[in-house]
Amino acid sequence: MENIQSKVVIITGASSGIGQATALLLGKYGAKVVLAARREERLKSIAEQIQRSGGSAVYAKTDVASAADMQKLADYALQQYGQIDVLINNAGIMPLSFLYELKIEEWDKMVDVNIKGVLYGIAAVLPTMRERKSGHIITVSSVSGYRVDPTAAVYSGTKFAVRAISEGLRQEEGPASGIRTTIVSPGVTSTELTKSISNEEIKGWVDQMSHFAISPDSIARAIAFAMNEPADTSVNEMIVRPTIQP
Ligand code: NDP
Repeated sequence: MENIQSKVVIITGASSGIGQATALLLGKYGAKVVLAARREERLKSIAEQIQRSGGSAVYAKTDVASAADMQKLADYALQQYGQIDVLINNAGIMPLSFLYELKIEEWDKMVDVNIKGVLYGIAAVLPTMRERKSGHIITVSSVSGYRVDPTAAVYSGTKFAVRAISEGLRQEEGPASGIRTTIVSPGVTSTELTKSISNEEIKGWVDQMSHFAISPDSIARAIAFAMNEPADTSVNEMIVRPTIQP
């Protein structure tokens, strides 16, 4: 993974699950990792774990739903490491519900975190990446970014949306400034994601799928693969799901 060595990588949602696994793997491969999420204590302990193994990591408490926080995060990465090579837009929530439940606050939160969070991330790093004519923006979508299921209308909507945004970014910036874009879409993965489901019955249905969930390490390896490709190769979409997921 020689192309990952020394790259400066911002990872949102790095305090658990896929973001944490990705931070640890990239740290092992020699990337300089900037961890972002709201739970600062967890970021601190993951950063320390990377440092103890000889890697380089810093962290910043960040709410991706705040454009100001995302700008501060990018500024901090630049101040610490002098450049930003990769942004991994991974933070996300999945409060599934039926539309008739009218959980409007949860719809708003999903739009704020899963869509606006990605846009604010792009806004925070795009100027510096365009200036350097180099960079890579990786966004975590989902199998739900390709198909819709009952209770997942809004969640799927956010995950379809980020695929569209990433493809638009590719068309505009790939040829013009050499910025690469990647969508990584996990299937059922063993993380804390279902904790945001407030409807206990739905949470029970989703948790029943946990017996075939894959490890977040599988998604981290896919992200590392896309990052490690040479600069002339842009891996645009990857779906990574449990072999036995229907
Ligand atoms: P986790 O719940 O384990 O991780 C979600 C991460 O997002 C946490 O680090 C959380 O940190 C962070 N986060 C949530 N809200 C915010 C916010 N407002 N600002 C900053 N960070 C935030 O779940 P996963 O690891 O599974 O989720 C990662 C991504 O993978 C998500 O985009 C999810 O949609 C996607 N995904 C997951 C699948 C799965 O089966 N697990 C399947 C398909 C896609 P904190 O609370 O500390 O802020």
